[in-house]
Amino acid sequence: MPKRRLMTPGPTQVPEPARLAMARQVIHHRTPEFRAVFAEVLLGLKYVFQTENDVLVLTSSGTGAMEAAVVNVAPRGSKVIVLESGVFSRRWAQISERFGIQAVRHAVPWGQAIEPADVERLLAEHPDTVAVLGTLMESSTGVGHDVQAIGEMVAKTDALWVVDAISGAGAMQCLTDRWHIDVLVVGSQKALMTPPGLAFLAVSDKAWRQVERATPQAFYFDLKFHRDKIHGAAGSDTPWTPAHTLIAGLGESLKQIRAEGIEAVWANSALLARATRAGVQAMGLEVFAARPAEGMTAVRFPAGIDGKAFLKRLEARFGVKLAGGQLELDGQIFRLAHFGLVDELDIIATLAAIELVLDEMGHAVTLGTAAAAASRVIQGKPADADK
Ligand SMILES: *Cc1c(COP(=O)(O)O)cnc(C)c1O
Repeated sequence: MPKRRLMTPGPTQVPEPARLAMARQVIHHRTPEFRAVFAEVLLGLKYVFQTENDVLVLTSSGTGAMEAAVVNVAPRGSKVIVLESGVFSRRWAQISERFGIQAVRHAVPWGQAIEPADVERLLAEHPDTVAVLGTLMESSTGVGHDVQAIGEMVAKTDALWVVDAISGAGAMQCLTDRWHIDVLVVGSQKALMTPPGLAFLAVSDKAWRQVERATPQAFYFDLKFHRDKIHGAAGSDTPWTPAHTLIAGLGESLKQIRAEGIEAVWANSALLARATRAGVQAMGLEVFAARPAEGMTAVRFPAGIDGKAFLKRLEARFGVKLAGGQLELDGQIFRLAHFGLVDELDIIATLAAIELVLDEMGHAVTLGTAAAAASRVIQGKPADADK
């Protein structure tokens, strides 16, 4: 069996201190012991998200927090604008429609990014919009969005800027408060280096004013219950039983991020992104996203390569697990993450393995080309230096 390398944009590998923290005996959650851990986790999340807003922790996957965001800010019969550029941003529209909310879908071809000027136009055309729903890192295509520029447009209106940063937060720069993000949605199993099962929301005062206006079509996901427990007499509490073993693990992963510094974490992803893109291009492959995110890279399979067979072989032969394309992109692209525990040598090894498998499958490559280009970028040299 080859050594396993999990290189997918979630779930991702979990650092050892977090794994050990989760192995401890279960405690009760209505205790000062748990509340101390939870209070520290809330501070860590605020730091990673760069926000002073309330941060709420849900026991659910990321999609649960997307649903919570929608039902709390948009009453049945209200209107939202959905910035649709892939599988995950399309989910905003699916959730909205399920709850009888009108979704004005602004769809761009997959691989393209949303233009902020289009959002400004749409807001003018739909002045009754309660929220604009978008994505920081669209993990299905590898696109990174200009969340700041869109936030500046939305902030001029009464609408809320609701951002799926499930994989993006911690993987690329995300300044929640400065970028006017009213509801930030994040998941545990991506750049926060924790197993699946927790989701987070950072909610602005502007969003709370909207949330106060109506009773949401939700009970478990009624965000007011969560806010009241955080600010309640006991402090740092949750309305329902939280997945507190995961919260203990998250505490350790957040400590690691804080020790490194969030700016250093972002800079590392950005460097690995540049190295990955250089390696991919040196192999003659095409980066799929028109505006690539810093946390991941999506790559088009070369003509004549069976994408599914390639991914299977890469995993069986070298233990490298990449994600394939979803829905329309199935068999068309592969997706590779460079955040969390992924380091420089993981990227060099993954690029080398990709090249080896392409070679085995009969695609013309010069072995070592991709790793060399990535290594030069890591060394701060031009990707095509010393050729
Ligand atoms: C992973 C991911 C999701 C889905 O999260 P689940 O935890 O699977 O519910 C949504 N949006 C983005 C951008 C993601 O990367």
